[in-house]
Amino acid sequence: MLRTHTCGESRLTHVGQEVTLCGWVQRIRDKGGMIWIDLRDRYGITQLIFEEGSTAAAVLETARSLGREYVISATGAVVERIAKNPNLPTGDVEIKVDRLEILNPAKLPPFLIEDETDGGDDVRMKFRYLDLRRSIVRKNLELRHQVTRRTREYLDSLSFIEVETPVLIKSTPEGARDFVVPSRMNPGEFYALPQSPQTFKQLLMVSGFDRYYQIVKCFRDEDLRADRQPEFTQIDCEMSFVRQEDILETFEGLVRYLFKTVKGIELPENLTRMPYSEAMRRFGSDKPDIRFGMEFTELKGADADLTSGKDFVVFDSAELVVGIAAPGCAEYTRKQIDELTEWVKRPQIGAKGLVYARVNADGSVKSSVDKFYSEEELKGWVKQFNAQPGDLLLILAGPADKTRKQLNELRLEMGNRLGLRNPETFSAHWVVDFPLLEWSEEENRFFAMHHPFTSPKPEDFDLIATDPGAVRANAYDLVINGVEVGGGSVRIFRKDLQSKMFDLLGFTPEEAQHQFGFLLNAFEYGAPPHAGIAFGLDRLCSLLGGADTIRDFIAFPKNNAGRDVMIDSPSTISQKQLDELAIKTVV
Ligand code: ASP
Repeated sequence: MLRTHTCGESRLTHVGQEVTLCGWVQRIRDKGGMIWIDLRDRYGITQLIFEEGSTAAAVLETARSLGREYVISATGAVVERIAKNPNLPTGDVEIKVDRLEILNPAKLPPFLIEDETDGGDDVRMKFRYLDLRRSIVRKNLELRHQVTRRTREYLDSLSFIEVETPVLIKSTPEGARDFVVPSRMNPGEFYALPQSPQTFKQLLMVSGFDRYYQIVKCFRDEDLRADRQPEFTQIDCEMSFVRQEDILETFEGLVRYLFKTVKGIELPENLTRMPYSEAMRRFGSDKPDIRFGMEFTELKGADADLTSGKDFVVFDSAELVVGIAAPGCAEYTRKQIDELTEWVKRPQIGAKGLVYARVNADGSVKSSVDKFYSEEELKGWVKQFNAQPGDLLLILAGPADKTRKQLNELRLEMGNRLGLRNPETFSAHWVVDFPLLEWSEEENRFFAMHHPFTSPKPEDFDLIATDPGAVRANAYDLVINGVEVGGGSVRIFRKDLQSKMFDLLGFTPEEAQHQFGFLLNAFEYGAPPHAGIAFGLDRLCSLLGGADTIRDFIAFPKNNAGRDVMIDSPSTISQKQLDELAIKTVV
């Protein structure tokens, strides 16, 4: 090898040894008689020293010719440093260089390759290979490596086998748009890239591979957000001859193992299982962040009505009046409350207004609707909220589902503002019993809430004919800190039930056969009961790394417009390629 040691290795125990290090020039300090250079590689930084008088003139001259990010090889003795640097693992020593070779000079990089860089997002994405030299970014990829390695270790210990499934397939059922690939050999026909390996993993169950997993790229053509990329990675798993409970236990085990081995954190045994309906009622979200309280209290809803009949039309006409008690916020100024009101009225949230009530230290209550409600009545609200002096009640009203979603946003915002969402505190739980179907107003039909292969709960079978919207599914999500980290379901494994499901979703038998005939046919050849789950690896890593954007945990991510600005993709292709593919473009 070109080096004897890495730049992270030298210690006092090496003093006197001759070493050869290779790496990038991080920093040069030339004080005339002395030159110090910080040499960096993946493993760390080691200081090199050159001294007028004792270092050969030619070596000094080469040292003086170096620039930032030059790739060099340096050979010399490890010596003890006079001024030690306690912040560096190698900070007790330095290398007194007597041979120096420039392996490759470098242009001045467009931003500082330091944790605190002067490079903006765009330039760092364009020069991502330089950004990846920064230890802060490199550590994210190292964490990701630990997560995949530990995942394989855990699943291997339980006899799972990793099987690759194809990438050029046909439309999959996860509900997003497909990316498509034209087929030159079959003009006018297209492959779709998998939104997940869902159907293949089910076919593997039919083949008898009763414990499958795959760390696999999935592709979904969706609008992008901080936690979405057009291509992302799943830890995709499936098991045969299991019940829902077995899946929850097995994969809670995986998550516990990852937290323990990667972060040194013990998650509790037996994570909470919260039914979807409860999550919506208490938090207005199917992925509630339960690191903090501020649970919803209904002033007017299924079980209470403390607001009607007092001439306050907004509440009188509302299906639901619901709020949260923000601790310690009773002292908010008028200005702060006005700002919060504007916040909930932004189009992204869409509330019509915000009603507040302060619970003062002396127990008195002051609200924005004092005109309509007596102090006695307001005290009734305080009781309903179980609020404490110092709390600020923040109340929204309107149609039930919409209002719950809006209050969920407000609750999370208040959690942020009050510092209750510490990224180093972890709270994991399951959300279970999702509805099987979701009604689309736009398309006037039901969609599968998870995907069409999810099985209804046997006790809800009868509702399929009478009230399909009320049917619950054997579906579950793992939620950590308000992030959906994984989700899955017990599958349908009989052709008759699967055909019924397609029918509910508005497929004609011909359409079902055309799109999923292969799976329906397979179910006729001895399909075992099976169930599975998939975790979003990128999200899991960003969560473990305490960041909220998954981009930082992907080596070469795309920007918010779905572009890779480094390689400039997507891009046009030549007329020759278009002709070969029998494609005409209209832009
Ligand atoms: N294929 C599903 C998804 O991508 C996961 C599963 O049901 O296993 O969300």
